[in-house]
Amino acid sequence: MIYDPLISPGVSSMLPAPKSYWHATHKIPTLPPLNKKLNTEYLVVGGGYTGLSAAITLAQAKQEVTLLDANSLGFGCAGRNGGFILSGSGRLSLNAIEDKWGHTVATGMQGEFDSAVDLLKKRIVDFDMQVDLVKGPYLKLAHNTKQAKQLYATAKHLASNFNVPSATLTTEVLSARFGIEGAYGGVELEGACLHPLKLASEYAKVAKKLGATLFYDSPAIHIEKQKAGFLVTTPSGSVSAKHILIATNAYTPKHFQESVDNKQFPVQSSIFVTAPLNNEQRALTGLTAPMSFMDTRIMKYYYRVLPDGRLLFGGRGAVKGKDADNAKEKQRLYNAMVKSFPALKGIAMDYFWSGWVSVSLDSMPRIFVDNAHSTDSAIGYAMGYCGSGVSFAAFAGQRLAQRIMGTGDVDLSLPLYQSPLKTYPFSRARRIALHGLYQWAKIAER
Ligand SMILES: Cc1cc2nc3c(=O)[nH]c(=O)nc-3n(C[C@H](O)[C@H](O)[C@H](O)COP(=O)(O)OP(=O)(O)OC[C@H]3O[C@@H](n4cnc5c(N)ncnc54)[C@H](O)[C@@H]3O)c2cc1C
Repeated sequence: MIYDPLISPGVSSMLPAPKSYWHATHKIPTLPPLNKKLNTEYLVVGGGYTGLSAAITLAQAKQEVTLLDANSLGFGCAGRNGGFILSGSGRLSLNAIEDKWGHTVATGMQGEFDSAVDLLKKRIVDFDMQVDLVKGPYLKLAHNTKQAKQLYATAKHLASNFNVPSATLTTEVLSARFGIEGAYGGVELEGACLHPLKLASEYAKVAKKLGATLFYDSPAIHIEKQKAGFLVTTPSGSVSAKHILIATNAYTPKHFQESVDNKQFPVQSSIFVTAPLNNEQRALTGLTAPMSFMDTRIMKYYYRVLPDGRLLFGGRGAVKGKDADNAKEKQRLYNAMVKSFPALKGIAMDYFWSGWVSVSLDSMPRIFVDNAHSTDSAIGYAMGYCGSGVSFAAFAGQRLAQRIMGTGDVDLSLPLYQSPLKTYPFSRARRIALHGLYQWAKIAER
């Protein structure tokens, strides 16, 4: 049974945990379900990075906070992502943001993206989080000559206008330094990766320690506005809350709450993890040390060498949830890996799983609060991070909590905060359009 946000009634506690490499290598803590009625000042709905980080921020501010998640810890993206720590979020690059809103806004957005990475690093140190953090080169690889030129030009622009250091890599350097053949050029940046499910566990531990009350396997099935606040019902309990923070991202059920209904498009991304590479495979592929990669395709492939010498390889998933585990989908991704690393042909695929990323209509995530700073009641959400939320979702959770409390130095003029998520106009046609895009990309990038 696979959860499909556009088809299923909602995430239930009965759905199985993902069969991810992360779940196979980390035992999540057992957190209790809600079996009673309770009152709270702030209720966070959704217990991935966004929700847990919001709970941490509220608890640090000595606020009374309760969190509900529909399933076990890491059921959503927190237990399914690739673990790349990326600066950025949504689908727009700094260049695209600059083209649309100008340099000042782009610099402001860069400040938020960098702060997200800094917040993650600071919390890892401050709370002594055990998340298997590994540092190593992060390579962006061009899949054709045109993209190589584009990659070099972008790197130059980012260095001069945004102070982003990177090194350009010719095909010769890629081959000599990394053993990479078949790419048309690349750019090297500083990279870091972690174990995403361990990160979720550490956030839950910190949130609890600071005084937040966490309930898992407790889906919010109904949110009702009341005179002073909201009443949220779960299958075996209910919570009366003054303020609500929605942190369900791509896993948001289809008819949930008017501020988020039809405001984002859940799109599947899939990952597989190979058997550990043997010495010959390591030598032939150059995959000898922790490194992470992203290519320049419209439907990007991303991959990293895991600390135990396996290769994690990800890319777009099936259009519909019910097709996520189809042999055809697995083979498509496997073939893409073999195209990049012919020496790995035949290597076993030990793990395969998929998850939903949240795409907003204008590709910009939002952290938005209706009736912000109201002492009576407010409801807010943070979502739309696309494939980039390991650092940013937690930062967005912090910002959401700050916005709802009316604290923090949030620059509300930035597009992240200024307006609510836009509604998808032909929401039912989203999947037809996505299918068309995949077919077009297949032909265009053959
Ligand atoms: C395959 C894949 C690979 C990715 N790789 C990367 C990467 O390498 N680097 C990167 O930066 N980002 C990556 N991402 C994106 C990143 O993982 C997400 O942006 C981020 O984890 C989102 O965090 P979140 O807390 O908002 O959402 P989630 O972690 O998805 O949490 C949402 C939670 O809401 C809960 N929920 C849903 N409905 C209800 C309800 N009714 N009541 C209560 N709870 C509910 C769900 O159970 C879930 O736990 C990837 C995503 C995927 C799918």
